[in-house]
Amino acid sequence: MGRRYALFGHPVAHSLSPRIHAAFAEQAGVDMDYTAIDTEDLDAALAAFDGDGANITLPHKERAAALCASLSARARRCGVVNTLVRADGGWHGDNTDGLGLVRDLTDRHRLDLRGRRTLLLGAGGGARGVAPALLDAGIAELFIVNRTAARSDALADVLGEPGRVHPRYFDDLPALGEFDLVVNATSATRHGELPKLPISLAGRRTTAVDLSYGEAAIPFLAWARAANAREAIDGLGMLVEQAAESFALWHGIRPDTGAVFAQLQAHAISLVSAD
Ligand code: NDP
Repeated sequence: MGRRYALFGHPVAHSLSPRIHAAFAEQAGVDMDYTAIDTEDLDAALAAFDGDGANITLPHKERAAALCASLSARARRCGVVNTLVRADGGWHGDNTDGLGLVRDLTDRHRLDLRGRRTLLLGAGGGARGVAPALLDAGIAELFIVNRTAARSDALADVLGEPGRVHPRYFDDLPALGEFDLVVNATSATRHGELPKLPISLAGRRTTAVDLSYGEAAIPFLAWARAANAREAIDGLGMLVEQAAESFALWHGIRPDTGAVFAQLQAHAISLVSAD
């Protein structure tokens, strides 16, 4: 039997990750099995898993970091883990979400992120993974707004650049002016809600990005178009790119993501955001 990998999260029934990794494995000639494991108890599920590596999705990314024997520098910096690699002393944790987003925006969409005044909505596992990578990609200021203010404050503290990173409240949004990049990293639209966002946040030079994809991305992308944003991009490309980075950590081969992305995009609207 080939090597064994799994995605742990709740819910994960609609996850595209098994499909994406099967396509990568076929392309790279790697014999591997990748399944989605739906669990509310990550500690127990991981203890019962004897595979070689794993992906972690919501709501477990923070807990996963705590369960690792060692962490990569980027996982340590953001405190959340989406990739586990079996190592001698236990799990080694890494985070490929940030690189996945930046690769999608810069390689696939040919965007220059440098100098962009950026608004990040959310401070959960996804937001924490992408924030350091956006800063490293050269964005200018980063404003972070989250429903639970303690979490946006904590993320700003962890990022540790007080002159560049500013936690704010949803109530502050009307006064913040226009952004060059607006990133929705909330899971609000999974429950059919979109936080109230003034259209003054976006304009003709704004790129709006939703980490969600498929149906869950529709409300935010519709808001971006109504606000005359230059581009409205969903999280499907990021999903494929972060998966490719995980695959490379496990197998030492970075797959070609173009064909896999094109195949998924062909029926994107019917997809359920689940990673
Ligand atoms: P978490 O559960 O860790 O965090 C959820 C975030 O959404 C928190 O900031 C939470 O705020 C906020 N939120 C939830 N409901 C509402 C609401 N009604 N109004 C305002 N804010 C709300 O999830 P993740 O960060 O892991 O995932 C967030 C989204 O990003 C998901 O849709 C996920 O699919 C997507 N994602 C996509 C990836 C990709 O590769 N494309 C990778 C990672 C994530 P609070 O702190 O107040 O609870």
